[in-house]
Amino acid sequence: MRCAIYARVSTDEQATEGFSIPAQKERLESFIKSQGWHIHDFYIDDGYSAKNLERPQIKRMMKDIEANKFDVVVVYKLDRMVRSVADLHKLLKLFERNKVMFKSATEMFDTTSAMGRFFITLVGAMAEWERENIGERVKFGTQQMVEQGIRPGSPRPYGYEYTEGGELKIVEDEAKWVKFIFDKYATNGAQTIAIELNQMGIKNKKNDLWHGSSIRYILDNPIYAGLLRWDYRRRSGDVRIFNDDFTIAEFKQEGFQPIITKEQFELTQSLIKERATNRIRSTTHYPFSTIIRCSECGHKYVGRTEIRQPGNRPYRSYSCQGRKKYGVCNAASFSEEAMNEAFLKSLEYSLGQLDEIAAGHDINHIDVENSLLKIQNKKERAKELYIEGDISKKRYQELMNEYTKEENKLQSAIDEAEEVISTEEIKKFLLHLKDEWKDMDYEAQKKAIQSTFETITIKVIKKGTAGKNPKPAVLDIIDYQKR
Ligand SMILES: [Zn+2]
Repeated sequence: MRCAIYARVSTDEQATEGFSIPAQKERLESFIKSQGWHIHDFYIDDGYSAKNLERPQIKRMMKDIEANKFDVVVVYKLDRMVRSVADLHKLLKLFERNKVMFKSATEMFDTTSAMGRFFITLVGAMAEWERENIGERVKFGTQQMVEQGIRPGSPRPYGYEYTEGGELKIVEDEAKWVKFIFDKYATNGAQTIAIELNQMGIKNKKNDLWHGSSIRYILDNPIYAGLLRWDYRRRSGDVRIFNDDFTIAEFKQEGFQPIITKEQFELTQSLIKERATNRIRSTTHYPFSTIIRCSECGHKYVGRTEIRQPGNRPYRSYSCQGRKKYGVCNAASFSEEAMNEAFLKSLEYSLGQLDEIAAGHDINHIDVENSLLKIQNKKERAKELYIEGDISKKRYQELMNEYTKEENKLQSAIDEAEEVISTEEIKKFLLHLKDEWKDMDYEAQKKAIQSTFETITIKVIKKGTAGKNPKPAVLDIIDYQKR
């Protein structure tokens, strides 16, 4: 294996032991030796910060990656190479395109092991999801508007129209059907209501046919009860994540006419929830279908649903196509539950690793802050000395220059530290995914998985058991390929 060593030290780190170029080099050389690899070249940016990729040696390294001069890049720590998720993502893509691996000698960030690849995949996914979620501030603004009772700019709800002054005015011909929908939902499903409206020749807002989801959209809209809701319904690409954390407020337009009572709206919401949990969710969405690879034969695992006992919840499972379709494999099928367990366990593992990394951090920050304080005190002192006539103007200016220089150095160290890929952030993301996973619907899970992974190779360690006390299979995730 041909290795490239990348090392970097910023000006203010040059004095710090452990970060010095010779220390990084020494550590990496012995690491590479232990792996039985050999060094192709050193790429050393001495006196550069990693706030972007504008560094001569990293640029040369990137060129050499494209020229296929080595197989693996080794760094002492990830933050030697990049300090932002976006740059990391960019580099990882370059590595991947050119089949170059990446290894941090002291951390889990690497692409040479399955776990490392999994982790990096998540980082990449996070970078992308984050980019799409930049609208946070905009959303915050919306929340404030809602709290003040102003309806954020949105299309008119069925049953109302906007007046020229931008106020909502009831449309009686539509409002009666809104009332009909809410009343009917007490005993009927959304789909049934849609069919009934269509049979009566009632058109929806777009002068089109009703369907289940347009009915549910109405049932879900609190404006009909004179309320506004801002929920944290984030959209990450096509992935929608829901939770119960929302703000509800009175719609404060003077003379506004609600169509239903707040009680009816609340009742409807609990009905929706109740039915959603009982509803057999769409069977066409299997989050891991075709992504799972069989460790025995390499074929895909495909999802399916069966009703094992009438009245029971349908049993969702994945089975190896090598076995089911081609009869060339013996690998066991397993329940979706087993797959979820294995997946969440991997997330937990990553979280554990993050805690280890985080343990060594942050102390530095406090030190720097203290040094900064000390310099400010020194500055004050110099000023006093000058005013008292104890030092000359020239000496005073010299001292001030010196202190200001030191101060700037420390300040930029703080700035840089703030740009570091924060393990806290990554952790938050993983925790979030872990918490939300079971509440996400199949479709959202599927999009999350299928947009992140190309394959997940699974080995069945222990078959699941059916019967009175069924136990899900025990699975081992032995490899990942990201998309
Ligand atoms: Zn198989």
